[in-house]
Amino acid sequence: MFRTKLFQTSLPDILVTFSIMAATRKPKLIIFDVDYTLWPFWADTHVVSPFRKEKVGTVLDGRNRKVKYYSDSPVILQTLSSEGYELAVASRSDTPDRVRSILKLLDWEKCFSYTQIYPGTLYIGIFTSNLYFDRLKKQSGTNFNDMLFFDDEPRNISDTSELGVHAVLVERGINWKVVNDALDQFAAKR
Ligand SMILES: [Mg+2]
Repeated sequence: MFRTKLFQTSLPDILVTFSIMAATRKPKLIIFDVDYTLWPFWADTHVVSPFRKEKVGTVLDGRNRKVKYYSDSPVILQTLSSEGYELAVASRSDTPDRVRSILKLLDWEKCFSYTQIYPGTLYIGIFTSNLYFDRLKKQSGTNFNDMLFFDDEPRNISDTSELGVHAVLVERGINWKVVNDALDQFAAKR
């Protein structure tokens, strides 16, 4: 009986089964840096408070300049969130209040289950990277190897990769290709 079943399963069937298994391997927590990952500026130097939202939905800073973002950012956050992914922000910023205000006014805040935004630094080595990601691990109960992280700073990518996080360098702002490629790589990784 067993032999018969075995021989009835063709190699293509087996490959399809493996590829379905790989495709279902998903990150449990997806973490985004903000400056030059979701938007094209540094919140602590390029924009000023107070921020406000116009009736048409545009967010302006204290000098009446439009607060820009990478065009795919809002849809990426909304789509991943509605597909059931837990999302988080990890940002080193000397002005966490500005980052929080912008996230709130852009209406992105609701997409994030966890936020780690404060001065100090993800940028000076493994110990401080650990701080952000240790907190996210504790808050979410998610292991590092179930996390996917997007950031524009190569140092942060190498530091968090050492923890076991699947970290992806974003070179010209987040976009769908970067996200889809990262999800494919994550699925294929283990
Ligand atoms: Mg950045």
